Amino acid sequence: MSWDFSTEPEFEKKLEWMRRFMHEEVYPLEVLDVDERAFMRAIKPLQEEVKRQRLWATHLPPQLGGQGYGQVKLGLMHEIEGASVWGPIVFGNQAPDSGNSEILAHFGTEEQKRRWLHPLLEGKIRSGFSMTEPNTAGSDPTLLSSTAELQGNEWVINGHKWFTSNGMIADFLIAMVVTEPKADAYERASMIIVPTDTPGLKRVRNVPTLAGEHETFGYGHAEILYENVRVPSENLLGERGQGFLIAQMRLGPGRIHHCMRWLGQARRAFDMLCERALQREAFGKKLAGHETVQNWIADSAAEMQAARLMTLHAAWVIDTQGASAARKEISLIKFFGAKVLHDVIDRAIQIHGSLGYSADLPLEEMYRHARAARIYDGPDEVHRVAVARQVLSGYRPPDGMWPREHVPTRREASRRKFAALLEAATTDA
Ligand SMILES: Cc1cc2nc3c(=O)[nH]c(=O)nc-3n(C[C@H](O)[C@H](O)[C@H](O)COP(=O)(O)OP(=O)(O)OC[C@H]3O[C@@H](n4cnc5c(N)ncnc54)[C@H](O)[C@@H]3O)c2cc1C
Repeated sequence: MSWDFSTEPEFEKKLEWMRRFMHEEVYPLEVLDVDERAFMRAIKPLQEEVKRQRLWATHLPPQLGGQGYGQVKLGLMHEIEGASVWGPIVFGNQAPDSGNSEILAHFGTEEQKRRWLHPLLEGKIRSGFSMTEPNTAGSDPTLLSSTAELQGNEWVINGHKWFTSNGMIADFLIAMVVTEPKADAYERASMIIVPTDTPGLKRVRNVPTLAGEHETFGYGHAEILYENVRVPSENLLGERGQGFLIAQMRLGPGRIHHCMRWLGQARRAFDMLCERALQREAFGKKLAGHETVQNWIADSAAEMQAARLMTLHAAWVIDTQGASAARKEISLIKFFGAKVLHDVIDRAIQIHGSLGYSADLPLEEMYRHARAARIYDGPDEVHRVAVARQVLSGYRPPDGMWPREHVPTRREASRRKFAALLEAATTDA
């Protein structure tokens, strides 16, 4: 089997353009002290430029303006745009709108696309994805308790959700709710489009989080009550009971994008780490001359390289064999990538001392965001369990009481295997 992550020189030119554009136009947005209206005005021409370059919402199929790029190419693009928290919004890839637009593109009816997808892509409306509940463990979504019951030609939705990102500002939510209570665990839930102005939908608050101040402009993670919320039956996405199937399709490639964005962030922190090592002096030499700091640099470089290759490999498996063939690879990078991101930023903070801890550098904000990466889209532990299960499914317990590599047992077997030769050798001697 050959592995090939190579991309054409033409595509490399696009990446080069993106790198320059991010440095010159997007990074400066990070330190602008303005309200949302002014910010949106500032990014409009940048979004137009991205569209002119045909790099807008590239995750979508070509008929919807995407470029039909596979996950390897998308991953390389996300690595660049994800280096800044504002990159995805400038490139039309910001979560949760990006994942929701993918769901609508693949599973939406023509009417759903006309009403929700096209305005979403044009940036006229916003969306949220409403699955996690405060009263059930999000790690095990088979426990979901929010329900939708079909009454006449309306779904009646009841439930309590939270951490619906962008929930407070979204125009519609895609709610994952139980519609088939008697079905098998993974066929109980469906996805339903819920306009946020529907009576009975109560946006309680944005849950305050570790990310704190950054949750600007009303973005954030909303707590939402669904109290007899009625929506037309045609708001169902896909088929009844297909919620998990659709979620899997949405989350697989989405995790590749997350991991590549984290690598973009980690690279920025790493650059800061190396520059400071060469700049600051303590105990008679530059920090770069101290062995501990050299270890940080070497470990970070190795871990980032490993995470990058693992992520591109997972992307390649999706491109060549489909998302379900890449489940192990996706779980591997989800927990490994989140740890690499966290550890590299942590070292970058450490080398800057009090400056690293301060908000005079972006590291403290990056660190707060990095912590969430170990929880959203499945906590570390769940992905480790998934990896271990799949790895173990390729093994079977050895026969008998000893491990397969037990030396005395193997020696005995070797003696038997070579008995004739050994006997001949003894006779010859
Ligand atoms: C920044 C952020 C954004 C989010 N955005 C959204 C969104 O837009 N929409 C949405 O629906 N949800 C969103 N979430 C919610 C997220 O998907 C859930 O937090 C996640 O699925 C975990 O669910 P939980 O919080 O209920 O934790 P729980 O399921 O209660 O798990 C708590 C802890 O239990 C441990 N655990 C769980 N399973 C195992 C196991 N098998 N073995 C060992 N330990 C285990 C883990 O340490 C885990 O962290 C977001 C979360 C964050 C932090």
